[in-house]
Amino acid sequence: TVRIGVLALQGAFIEHIHSLNTLRGVEHISDVVEVRTKEELASVDALIIPGGESTSIALIAERCGILDDLREFARTKPTWGTCAGLILLSKQAIHTKKGGQQLLNALPVTVSRNQFGRQVDSFTIKLTTPCLESISSEKAFEYVFIRAPAIVSVDDPEVESLVSLPPGYGQTEASENGLLVAVKYRNMLGTSFHPELTSDNRWHQYFVRMALDAGSA
Ligand code: GLN
Repeated sequence: TVRIGVLALQGAFIEHIHSLNTLRGVEHISDVVEVRTKEELASVDALIIPGGESTSIALIAERCGILDDLREFARTKPTWGTCAGLILLSKQAIHTKKGGQQLLNALPVTVSRNQFGRQVDSFTIKLTTPCLESISSEKAFEYVFIRAPAIVSVDDPEVESLVSLPPGYGQTEASENGLLVAVKYRNMLGTSFHPELTSDNRWHQYFVRMALDAGSA
């Protein structure tokens, strides 16, 4: 079984906890807990870093003295960053505030913050997603994008591309390829969207299985 933590410093952590709780009894989850301290972090097998505001999450983590523990955790244990969490997890971010921002430096990609515009430019899109097919039918997943980042460069050949948008979304120049919004790399999962804001819990299930596989390896 796995004990899953959700970083609960700022942002959409309650929604992730709800999504994970719907999987109890379906997957071998022993516990779902909010993580705010070193001790809580040390007690979990896997961690979700939610969406919200990446600069705020980093600042609060620094003040709470857990930024370095988060860096170590992300390097070695199953960690999933969604939206702001993806920004934090990555090695490089562009379109940051002047002076940059603290990152966990773990996922070898470059993300572009707010690639799709402002809050009012939020959108949803249904896409068939081959990597979710092993979990259940091929029904399309509804993706929710809110001031989302995009993955604009992959900086290690081991990074697996999981989901790209159709061309045109978030792009100002014509391109054959759409923007990359979900990747997997070793123990890490990074997604631009908010899977916790829909009732479809297949992405949570995907991550729980990653965590279970890591535990049995
Ligand atoms: N724009 C936010 C950031 O840069 C992320 C938005 C979100 O998590 N929904 O941190």
